[in-house]
Amino acid sequence: MRAPKGTFATAAAQHAGLPQGTVHKQVVIVGNGPSGIALSHMLNGNWPYYNGQPHPTDEDLTARLAMEPQGLSIVEQDLQFLSQGLEGRSNNAVSLLFDCLNLPCADLGVDSEPLLGWQYHPDKYVDHVVLGKGPPGGSWQTMDGSVLTISLSRWMELPGLDFRCFGGGGPPICRDSRASVASLAKYYSDYVKLRHLQSNFRCGTIVTRVTPLPDNQWLISGVEQAGDEGAPDLPFNYVTSHLVLATGNCDRPNKLKVPGDSEPFVVYSLLDIERMVKQGKLGEHSDPVLVVGAGLSAADAIISCRFHGLPVLHAFRRSSGDPGFVFKQLPENMYPEYHKVHQMMTDGGKSYKNYRSLPEHKIIEIRPDNKVRLMGPGDNGSSACYVIKVSAVVALLGAQPDLDFMPMAGAGLGVLKDLPVASRSNPVHIDPFSYECSSAPGLYAIGSLAGDNLVRFVHGGALAFTSHIHKQMTSEANDTAEETVDV
Ligand SMILES: Cc1cc2nc3c(=O)[nH]c(=O)nc-3n(C[C@H](O)[C@H](O)[C@H](O)COP(=O)(O)OP(=O)(O)OC[C@H]3O[C@@H](n4cnc5c(N)ncnc54)[C@H](O)[C@@H]3O)c2cc1C
Repeated sequence: MRAPKGTFATAAAQHAGLPQGTVHKQVVIVGNGPSGIALSHMLNGNWPYYNGQPHPTDEDLTARLAMEPQGLSIVEQDLQFLSQGLEGRSNNAVSLLFDCLNLPCADLGVDSEPLLGWQYHPDKYVDHVVLGKGPPGGSWQTMDGSVLTISLSRWMELPGLDFRCFGGGGPPICRDSRASVASLAKYYSDYVKLRHLQSNFRCGTIVTRVTPLPDNQWLISGVEQAGDEGAPDLPFNYVTSHLVLATGNCDRPNKLKVPGDSEPFVVYSLLDIERMVKQGKLGEHSDPVLVVGAGLSAADAIISCRFHGLPVLHAFRRSSGDPGFVFKQLPENMYPEYHKVHQMMTDGGKSYKNYRSLPEHKIIEIRPDNKVRLMGPGDNGSSACYVIKVSAVVALLGAQPDLDFMPMAGAGLGVLKDLPVASRSNPVHIDPFSYECSSAPGLYAIGSLAGDNLVRFVHGGALAFTSHIHKQMTSEANDTAEETVDV
């Protein structure tokens, strides 16, 4: 099964006019976050096996597992049959299957032993490359390191490396509590080294263009950022018949969409606020920072501003008593900091120095002199506009995938064809058992792009794709063997 690593210009011979130096790969993965890493791990030959133990609560799943041929990896089994009737927090059946086997009863709050073991088969290696903008870990490398995950740390693990055993000499890490973003960023990047995946990773690379070729092949073009300052970026080209998009959902933050929303003091990530503090642009005596949004990221920004002693004005559209705030879905004992922010929002800031909430407010305009025009509730149920002076605006309103490098910027790939792809409301339309895009043969999407928004579910896409390509390769090998016999 092992294919030659990085066969130069195999496809170039087939497709005249390809750029010089084009490298052929069986699989090209764009995006080196948890989903790209999980897929590379399986394509490297690390396969999951059912250990024969009954599922603690799902007798039907146990029965189905018993009916599949024993001794084979889950990769080789019938994923459609095994995942029948499963329900949970992903819409993708194979993601639910993997989750049931890897973290049985996770949603019941029980830490049951996994029903999976892993075996390494070097002969199952599939030739692939993982391209990604930064170090392995994807979006976890670009978030503020001090923030804690929503998920328990054991839900953030990748196969074969216990989160507790990693961290080299630091304080012991508990799998039943939340992890810091910084520890996860290190875990994912160390994972690639410790699981010997490095040779498949090409980090510091940006894919700038994908071009469809005849016979359902794809040309992937991009640049590798030069290590040395001033040195030119190096262009690269790959050609493949299996292009996997694992580019996540964080590259294009939602903008305020008001005049002035690109002023230099208007930022869209907590890291930018931290940077401004470090540069001395923000401090205790600055005008207030205007935080816009009412989700967990906005709450993280408020916590961070208060940590740095910055005065905060906090604008959001909902009323302060709205029952739909995300904080209400989180148990208070595990997420005390978010409940504190929710309390501040409800209180309006009366009891909290240096914080004032502005519920039911809209930003109308941001002026270059740091003045912001807002509209909020006025007298007698009317609306009123007024102007405030701020030192910075940080708007945390969610993000969208950036598929500008795809033909027609990815138009038509979503479940709702006429709308742009968005992980929650419009994921890429995929075949549930191969993760192949319904509208583009040879193109696949995994992870957030396919609607698997939590790390514990990104393994589903990795399993489905590995199973699909393994079965495809086996069937091609059988066809070739039959042809040989016929001759
Ligand atoms: C603030 C925040 C908190 C979160 N908390 C949790 C949590 O507690 N638990 C949980 O399970 N999930 C959480 N998530 C979701 C989690 O981030 C995703 O589930 C996970 O990272 C998805 O992995 P991915 O590999 O699909 O994408 P990503 O992690 O987004 O990685 C994709 C990578 O591909 C890169 N890329 C994009 N385009 C290109 C290109 N053209 N060329 C090269 N590289 C490219 C991106 O820059 C990115 O680095 C959180 C997300 C956010 C934003």
